[in-house]
Amino acid sequence: MTKFNISNIITIALLIVLSFFKVYLSFSIQTYVLLFILILVLYTSYLFVGSYFVCSNIYMKAICKAKENKKSIALSFDDGPDENVTPEILRVLKEQNAKVVFFVKGANAEKYPDIIQKIVEDGHIIGNHTFSHSSNVAFLNRKKITKEIEQTNKLISCFTGQSPRFFRPPFGVLNPIIASVAEKFEMITIGWSIRSFDGGSRSKELIISNLKIKIHGGAIILFHDTNPGTVNVIKEFLDYLAQTDYKVERLDKMINIEPYV
Ligand SMILES: [Zn+2]
Repeated sequence: MTKFNISNIITIALLIVLSFFKVYLSFSIQTYVLLFILILVLYTSYLFVGSYFVCSNIYMKAICKAKENKKSIALSFDDGPDENVTPEILRVLKEQNAKVVFFVKGANAEKYPDIIQKIVEDGHIIGNHTFSHSSNVAFLNRKKITKEIEQTNKLISCFTGQSPRFFRPPFGVLNPIIASVAEKFEMITIGWSIRSFDGGSRSKELIISNLKIKIHGGAIILFHDTNPGTVNVIKEFLDYLAQTDYKVERLDKMINIEPYV
């Protein structure tokens, strides 16, 4: 049973208890109303956390890190492929012999098949990041979410020969519909334990120092291969890792789950 189902049961139970036992409780009507509002506010706040924090595991279980006693870390790249940035990222990864996971946007995969081919040839793996990466993903209906995931799985299968298992929802947004469709396709939702914030206005130095502070064994780090600045961030971060005990391990190997079915 998911935390979502448990929270529904607890909320309904609390409301029933409050309604049925009001004859035994000497609360004023105002107190009753306040208690009802409090329960509903707590419930909606909990659902909000579940929607915007993929690792809250409220709607479905998401993998956000491996065992922390490992000295491995997995790098993940979202939103690509990008015509200019992804080939540069691939070049840097090849120089350092690092294998990673790319959570591709289906529309970009369709646009740049040669880059997807190169990702596969270089020994990286591909996950599903939906077709359109809609900014309204939290409000799409079941039919649209199904199409977003199914269409992208089919595209990726053209290059990998098998359907991807790893799914990263856009913006890390989950809700009961997205969770249920991901489960229908037997996808494994992948979050992250460290966000690089490479998509914003942070300088390379600030991004790297943040990564150095937060790094831990079994970490899954979120980058974007659509941001030109990420190329130098990756280069410098891999140089730094080479001086430490940490090694980059491909996500599927680090969490010991097959990336395709
Ligand atoms: Zn994204």
